[in-house]
Amino acid sequence: MSLRFCSFSSSSSGNCYFIQSSGGTSVLIDAGVPLRRLERNLESIGISPRDLGGIFLTHAHHDHVASYLIKKPFATRYGLRTYASTGTWRELLKRGCGELDHSACHRLEPSQTVQIGDLTITAHAKQHDAAGAVCFEVAASQERLAVVTDLGCYTEELLAALSGCHYYIFEANHDVQMEERSARPWSLKQRVLGPQGHLSNEQAAQALTQLAGQAKGIWLAHLSEECNCPDLANRVISGTLQRVNLDIPVYNLPARSPSPFYGKDCRLEQLTLFEIAP
Ligand SMILES: [Zn+2]
Ligand SMILES: [Zn+2]
Repeated sequence: MSLRFCSFSSSSSGNCYFIQSSGGTSVLIDAGVPLRRLERNLESIGISPRDLGGIFLTHAHHDHVASYLIKKPFATRYGLRTYASTGTWRELLKRGCGELDHSACHRLEPSQTVQIGDLTITAHAKQHDAAGAVCFEVAASQERLAVVTDLGCYTEELLAALSGCHYYIFEANHDVQMEERSARPWSLKQRVLGPQGHLSNEQAAQALTQLAGQAKGIWLAHLSEECNCPDLANRVISGTLQRVNLDIPVYNLPARSPSPFYGKDCRLEQLTLFEIAP
């Protein structure tokens, strides 16, 4: 059993990651794109929303839950189960979720695991300024994928839990100098750079040197469009890995448009399957 995956959007403007086992079970990690766009993104890869085995929410920031903050949330519209921590549910309900079907809202706390078809999904606690924030590990028999975005800093426990995955979708949010020199308000800079904010390119690189010894690839996610450059992030992370003799391909996920499919037997030509989101 193997995994394939793609991103529909990866930045502070929206986050949504589609993951599928070779047995056909598919899930979304976060659903932070507008409803119609999410429907079109799924259609463009031949998936009906009703085929999804569930949606897993990392935290309740708008760029991860946009399709819930509407009159009839995406999950309710298509009768889908949603999994999130108690902290995330509380935040989300405070923000208002329209006619959300509460009977399909499930709690998945840090360190808990749930089985959806042939996928095993585990939540891991992370440091971020949102109640109950988690990252997810998705496994299908031999293969493991970690989706790690919105992380202010990493703990030894998190590194130990996520070590040895085959694929990493991993945040490289900002270049520290670009962030410091940007015209952003001081309070925002403090938040982004702080231990409950986001990982810099260097922090991501250091974490990945400890995590990615078995990895087949790394996909850089949630890059700041204002305070990072895709080439720079890729250079910093690839260079740091090469210095510790890790020769792992590093890809960048597009900030606002769908990525190609990746994973076993997936090739870049499949880019043509996707329409570019408006
Ligand atoms: Zn985010
Ligand atoms: Zn966030």
